[in-house]
Amino acid sequence: MTQFKNPSEIARETLKQLAGRRMPPTPVNYKTLYQEISGVQNLEDDFPEKHLRSLTAALPMATPDQQRLARELESAVKANSWDSYRTRLIEFISTIGSAQKLAWGELINELLKQWETKHSGITPARKRESLDRILGNAGVGPEVLYTRLQNIVRSWAQGKEADMALEGDIPAEETANKPEVVTDAHPAKAPPPSRDGELLHELRELFAYTLETAISTQLAEAPQLAIDAKALARDIRNASSTKELQEFLTRLKRFAFKLELLAEDQAELRKSLLGLLRLLVENMSDLVLDDQWLHGQIEVVRNIIDKPLSQNTVDDAERRLKEVLFKQSQLKQSLHEAREALKGMLAGFVDHLADFADATSGYHDKIEASADKISSAKDMSELGSVLAEVMRETRSIQINAQRSRDELRATQQRVAEKEARIRELESELEQTSALVRHDQLTGTLNRRGLDDMFEKEKSRATRHETVLCVALLDIDNFKKLNDTLGHDAGDAALIHLANVCRETLRPQDTVARYGGEEFVIILPETSLEDATAALTRLQRELTKRIFLHEYEKVLITFSAGVTELRPEDTQATVVKRADEAMYKAKNSGKNRVEKG
Ligand code: GH3
Ligand code: MG
Ligand code: MG
Repeated sequence: MTQFKNPSEIARETLKQLAGRRMPPTPVNYKTLYQEISGVQNLEDDFPEKHLRSLTAALPMATPDQQRLARELESAVKANSWDSYRTRLIEFISTIGSAQKLAWGELINELLKQWETKHSGITPARKRESLDRILGNAGVGPEVLYTRLQNIVRSWAQGKEADMALEGDIPAEETANKPEVVTDAHPAKAPPPSRDGELLHELRELFAYTLETAISTQLAEAPQLAIDAKALARDIRNASSTKELQEFLTRLKRFAFKLELLAEDQAELRKSLLGLLRLLVENMSDLVLDDQWLHGQIEVVRNIIDKPLSQNTVDDAERRLKEVLFKQSQLKQSLHEAREALKGMLAGFVDHLADFADATSGYHDKIEASADKISSAKDMSELGSVLAEVMRETRSIQINAQRSRDELRATQQRVAEKEARIRELESELEQTSALVRHDQLTGTLNRRGLDDMFEKEKSRATRHETVLCVALLDIDNFKKLNDTLGHDAGDAALIHLANVCRETLRPQDTVARYGGEEFVIILPETSLEDATAALTRLQRELTKRIFLHEYEKVLITFSAGVTELRPEDTQATVVKRADEAMYKAKNSGKNRVEKG
């Protein structure tokens, strides 16, 4: 037999032989063959018995299911059986997964329906008793609870005793120390009242709390209903007999009905208010036909109110409207000032024209008088003095005309200057509209907003000699999300991510949308370690606050690169470094943060 020297050769040969000899690829077969090929008999045992045993001992044992799992894993370790260990673990994990998919909503609906339906032979008290027993059976897994409730509902629907529903699905070790099923024939064997009493007390308190705190505080606009909710809370706290509880239920039903009506009214009111706001915004845009800046802003506000409303979108709309109002008042003020200046100049010019007209009409009078004198002149000396007067008058009117012409020119020039200023102001405002600093979809800063913020933060960090980090994050597999759930879902996912960023990071951190599904985050006064930790926290938060699309949970993850700002950095160089680190994170499996 060929001698194989290094472990990878031995391993390859072992696999070849396993296939050649058609042996099942179990760990035991692999080990036996490996030893045979390597010629080494006393290989250290590869079954990590010690570790598995201590792992098994550390598992939680609060419920019968968990205890059963621990027992089975223990015996798999004892038998050195990887296979049973793995099988049992996979089975357990899949029961956890499937428990989340149980249709609780439907079941509870059906339970309530059957609860209210009258069944001959099953009294409400019996129903309550059966339900109490199932709910009081702490420690059963959600699947078992689901099955039991399903059985109870089914048996009520068939008009059978609910107790039958329990049979068959409780494992032997659980039923062994459970109180026996209660029937009217065995009243002495009633379950311990303390457990039920506690549960009932808890339920009562929860009901009262919900009515008093959660519901009545929402009813500021319906004071009578708020009073009713408080009264109901008092009633449920004081109800001790079944009769009182039944009365409470009747009143609660009536109350729920009124709440439903109120909710409908409020939804209607909200719709009308939104309609009114939309109308206002549209009219406003008609009124300011020639103002591009305002058009831009109004469009933004219109887009915001067209989307589903949330606190964030409303805040955003308010911020934009305030900006519109502020810019509008600025424009109005500037136009007013320019108009006043023009008016002043025109008035001056008109005064001057009047002076000029006065002066020229005086001139005409004088020339006429001189003409008379000339025609009646008898000698040259008389004529000479008339001519001297005509010359004097003519020169003075010439000077006057020149002054008026100069003034007219100056006025023209000042008017032109003012006109230019108005044009400049208007174009400035138009540009400001084009320079909107927020991304319309997510409400984070856009590239332009980021430019400003980066310069501001960089010079602050330099001034105070503090560290500043920049992170770039890119959503993983976003194209796939768009392709499978649609572009709108993609948009909603971007908004969700932006909201989680805003709510998880500190207020002084800046979030900006850098490209399609890429965001840049500026973290002032933060070390590289802390910035990395902040991004990791953000990832964790995103897995906790899962994105819902049409009631389906969609997990969004991102890869990020973080880097520290260096004195010689520009925005481009620091983002490039963060981008390279982000690619490192993508290449090493995504959903991670890398330092650059
Ligand atoms: P990776 O994990 O490597 O980052 O893969 P990816 O699919 O996330 O990256 P890729 O660059 O291939 O795709 C990005 C996708 O993002 C493509 C584009 O259609 C989508 N996208 C960009 N901007 C928007 C947007 O505003 N809304 C929506 N819904 N999708 C956008
Ligand atoms: Mg990308
Ligand atoms: Mg991506």
